[in-house]
Amino acid sequence: MIAGDLNFEQNHVTIKTNKQERVLHMQSTDDILYEGKSKSVHPGPCADSVILRYKDTATAFNGVKKEEISGKGKLNATISNLIYAYLHENGVETHLIEILDETTVAAKKVEVVPIEVIIRNVAAGRFSHTYGVPEGTPLRRAVVEFALKDDALDDPPINESQILALDLATATELADMTRQAVKINELLITYFAKVKIRLIDFKLEFGRYKDGSIILCDEISPDSCRLWDADTGQKLDKDRFRQDLGDLISGYEEVLHRLTSGGFTS
Ligand code: 5GP
Repeated sequence: MIAGDLNFEQNHVTIKTNKQERVLHMQSTDDILYEGKSKSVHPGPCADSVILRYKDTATAFNGVKKEEISGKGKLNATISNLIYAYLHENGVETHLIEILDETTVAAKKVEVVPIEVIIRNVAAGRFSHTYGVPEGTPLRRAVVEFALKDDALDDPPINESQILALDLATATELADMTRQAVKINELLITYFAKVKIRLIDFKLEFGRYKDGSIILCDEISPDSCRLWDADTGQKLDKDRFRQDLGDLISGYEEVLHRLTSGGFTS
C-alpha cells in the first residue's frame, strides 16, 4: 500500500509520492457507483476495483439524525486503514488494495453480502434494549448476530434460517463469515486492549470477490465499533453523536492518537 497526493482529473488519478508518480486510469471521475451514508463508491483504476471516498457526514438511526462533521472522514479512513493493515498482517484477507490519500482507498470490487455481522463482548445498544441487560454487562462469551442490511427496515435482526430461506447467503458463506468475524474479534480485542480501549461491540460487512471468496469489506472505525476507555469507561465512538455525549471528533482523535503513539506493536 502507498500513501501520497492524489489528483482526480478527467479520466485518471495521479498519485504523487516522494519516490514516484503513478497514473491510475478510471472511467470517469464524476462516476459514482453508489452514494453511501459515510462513503461514496467510484469506478476503480483497474478492472475488479473500486475507489472509496470517506465523507464527513455523520448519520445515526439509519439517517434520521445527520450532520456534517469536518474531519470525520479522514479520521475514520486513517483508523480503518490502520486496523486493516493489522488484520492483513495477521492473515485476514480484506478488500483493501491501496491507500490513495487521507480519505480515499482503492479496494477490490465485491458483491456486498446484504448482511451485517455484529459481534458483542459487552452488552450495549440494541442488545441491552432488546434483552433488558444493563449497558456494560460483560458477556460470558462473544455473541455473533446477523442483521439485514436495509435502511428502510432499520437493519432488522435476521437469523441463519431466514438468511438461507431468503437466499441472501449460502450456509458455507455464513460459516465463513462467522469464522472470520470471531477471529477478527479476538485480534481486535488484543489490538485495542494494548492501548487501554475496550472493544464493546462492532459491525462487519463481507463481500463476494470474483474468485468466489468471501472477504472483509467496508470500514472498521469508531463509526462501526463501540470503543470505551478501559479505565474510565468514557465512550470514544459514534455513541457520542447518537447520544449527544459531546464532541465526536475528540473521541475519534483519542482513538487514533492511542493507536499511533500508544506504543502498540502488532
Ligand atoms: P447495535 O445493534 O447495538 O445498534 O450495534 C452494534 C454495533 O454494530 C455497534 O458498534 C454499532 O456501531 C455497529 N452497527 C450496527 N449497525 C450499524 C450500521 O448500520 N452502521 C454502522 N456504521 N455501524 C453499525
